[in-house]
Amino acid sequence: MKKLLSLCICSSLALSLSLHANEQVTPKKASPVKNIIMIVGDGMGPAYTTAYRYYNDNPATAAIEETVFDRHLQGMSSTYPAPVSGYVTDSAAGATALSTGIKSYNGAIGVDVDKKPIKTVLEYAKEIGKKTGVVVTSQVNHATPASYITHNEYRRNYNAIADSFIDNGINVDLLLGGGTQYFEREDRNLVNEFKANGFQYITQYEQLANIKANQPLLGLFAPVGLPWALDDTNKHRLSTMTKAATAHLENEHGYFMLVEASQVDWAGHSNDIASAMAEMDDLAQTLIFLEKYVEQHPDTLVVLTADHSTGGLTLGANGKYIWQPAEFKGMEQSSHSVAQFVAENNYTAKELTKMLTFELTEEQLAQLQEIKKIPLKELTQAKKIKKLYKKINHFISQQSNTGWTSGGHTAIDVPVFAFGKKHHKFKGKIDNTDIAKTIFKLL
Ligand code: MG
Ligand code: ZN
Repeated sequence: MKKLLSLCICSSLALSLSLHANEQVTPKKASPVKNIIMIVGDGMGPAYTTAYRYYNDNPATAAIEETVFDRHLQGMSSTYPAPVSGYVTDSAAGATALSTGIKSYNGAIGVDVDKKPIKTVLEYAKEIGKKTGVVVTSQVNHATPASYITHNEYRRNYNAIADSFIDNGINVDLLLGGGTQYFEREDRNLVNEFKANGFQYITQYEQLANIKANQPLLGLFAPVGLPWALDDTNKHRLSTMTKAATAHLENEHGYFMLVEASQVDWAGHSNDIASAMAEMDDLAQTLIFLEKYVEQHPDTLVVLTADHSTGGLTLGANGKYIWQPAEFKGMEQSSHSVAQFVAENNYTAKELTKMLTFELTEEQLAQLQEIKKIPLKELTQAKKIKKLYKKINHFISQQSNTGWTSGGHTAIDVPVFAFGKKHHKFKGKIDNTDIAKTIFKLL
């Protein structure tokens, strides 16, 4: 008890001292855990991990196969932001709580309610001599990664956030995701600045196989976010990037890495169940790789949670006791790319059946035609694709009996998963701030 108490005092002292980002407070010490891999499934509320179990189920066997999520569930976490933002968090306040242990307002990037920078676990890991890395499927300056790397009063200041990755002093050894639009601008070329700071730079997933071991790495694979998993050249790009990142970051002092399945949330906002499950599958493959990695590196901790849930996803809607993910499981391209195809081509019903893997009714086909024939002066092509995308997502939800209550976030608690060294520290009902507080202690 006494030991526990003194530990608590020390860590709260370290936290209060660490409020100023540039202060060097902690001498190098041996960490209880050598490597920490923090994973955020953005928007991945409990309905998503449950949905993935049935999506993943092999109908040829009597058993419903256990998923990698099922194996490592520790408990649930609350996600509410600072009182000024009510009970429903956004990804910025959510990630700030997860990265700093302090709740803030919606929109906050690593700053408190007074807009003061708060030290993040990534910054702290760097200070004590560990390597640090960030691997995401969004742009690398999006809310979640930004809240670990930097500080800004508002998440949509994308250029300023990207600039700060250089201007605050580079604190990552590896940065993989999307975002060339923000890093190669007319007014400033941050890619060249990273190179001038000794970084190697890649733009293709294939190049991950040939990166130099002892040189920091910047990889930007798309202008903004990466393509949907279903549309990408590599449908398991998160696992490919994570695999390369673990090998690259390994060193005698250990590392801290943030991995984010960013687009689970984006699929949730669009009520797009097919892409949501494809993004979850990429995350599941990442975890399966990390299970093996932890077997070989038992001094590694892996923690996974969500910042919030998105869309109010419901498995079995409209009073019917049915949820049928097999209806869309065979899709080989996203419903967004199907919408684009409908907008830009003279298609046949047969072609759409092949893409969606189920047959549209006459009534549904007529609804698509109606949108398609709206004159461009009434609806731009981009808006038309958006409208078609929404419509096709609705058809897929009807076909599988998937329900949605929102195009935004919901306030329900989210699952927490962990495995590897000290994984039991995340058991029970915890708060999102507890995850950062525990990681600070374990670093
Ligand atoms: Mg995010
Ligand atoms: Zn969101």
